[in-house]
Amino acid sequence: MILTRRTVLGGAAAAGLCKVSPVTAKADPARSLHQRLICLDTHLDTPASLARPGWDIMRRHVRDADFTQVDYPRMVEGGLDGGFFAIYTPQGPLTPEGMLAARDAAFLRAMEIREMAAAHPMAFELALVAEDAARIAASGKRIVYQSIENSYPLGEDVSLLRVFYRLGVRMVGFIHFKNNQFGDSATDKPQWHGLSPKGRELAALGNDLGMVLDASHASDDVFDQMMETSRAPIILSHSGCRAVHDHPRNIDDARIKKLAAAGGTIQINSYNSYLIDVPPDPERDKVRGALMQRLRNPGDQTPAQRAATMRDVAAGMKALEKRYPEPRATFETYMQHVTHALDLVGPEHVGVGCDWDGGGGVVGMEDVAAIPKITEQLVKLGYTQSQLAGFWGGNALRVLQAAHEARKTPA
Ligand SMILES: [Zn+2]
Repeated sequence: MILTRRTVLGGAAAAGLCKVSPVTAKADPARSLHQRLICLDTHLDTPASLARPGWDIMRRHVRDADFTQVDYPRMVEGGLDGGFFAIYTPQGPLTPEGMLAARDAAFLRAMEIREMAAAHPMAFELALVAEDAARIAASGKRIVYQSIENSYPLGEDVSLLRVFYRLGVRMVGFIHFKNNQFGDSATDKPQWHGLSPKGRELAALGNDLGMVLDASHASDDVFDQMMETSRAPIILSHSGCRAVHDHPRNIDDARIKKLAAAGGTIQINSYNSYLIDVPPDPERDKVRGALMQRLRNPGDQTPAQRAATMRDVAAGMKALEKRYPEPRATFETYMQHVTHALDLVGPEHVGVGCDWDGGGGVVGMEDVAAIPKITEQLVKLGYTQSQLAGFWGGNALRVLQAAHEARKTPA
């Protein structure tokens, strides 16, 4: 199946929200091809921006000023047709109170994603099944699938996953930076040695509902056990290659091959410290955490006060970079992970999950407007239009379709 945009005309174009200037597109065949393909990113942390007071997804923002990487104008410019918008919840205490607070936060985040689509019906549309992507792209709108990153908010009640399914969620990532009630994290000490009994229940219900199981952030043991138990192919929605950079958040070649052999796909992450060696610096992390906290919790502020806070934080970040310089991965490093996976398992099992607005971005590809560079590089390497159509969306949609076909019970 070759996924290209049949037309960019539609409601959005009529409202003056059309895609990138055709002059630019015509000037460069690879860029023009990029704009024709349906491009999806399987891990967008952009919903975190939606809760920021005064932040408007329809306006163009500048990464250095407000630290965001995705908005509607930049999606259009970068030819990103959509992707999986993540309902991300940070890992908190495994107590009844902690789980309830997380549950509420996750539902609010899901509501914010739906409100984004409802508030801008000419620009965004919620997608539920694989076939929705081509139809929505053809209408000139952005495709909004939803995913869960960290199932901690489900608490002890796995059946809550059904409610998220009803809200439109079609991909479920079990774990984040720390172990939780469902299994072990790639970045924590082994506790369950894979999935917990509840994690196995979650995998089974995810399969029954027709949701894609996502092993990014999970330990190798969780990956192996998900692979063993899942009736459908699974996904790594935002991961890198351990052979290129040895980090527990990345995955080794043997497992990438197993994933591909079962029909799955690895979507390559652009998160700095997973791509290259970044020596830990607790002081830097502390200062950065405090600055980001000011952004996330601005309290009751007038728009002018918010703008001043934003300027303060931006200046603080600049000072931080000077005082605690951090090695930064480049676009070339990112492409090393991409091409390694492509060489290993072929273009039917690799895609893009850049972790935009969640710590992704590299020197030379700082926000979503820059992603046509990936297509340019792959065209230079000889990848064909149909291979690139798979890489940019077809592979993830194939996995979504397979999960849907393997479902058992209506939600
Ligand atoms: Zn993540």
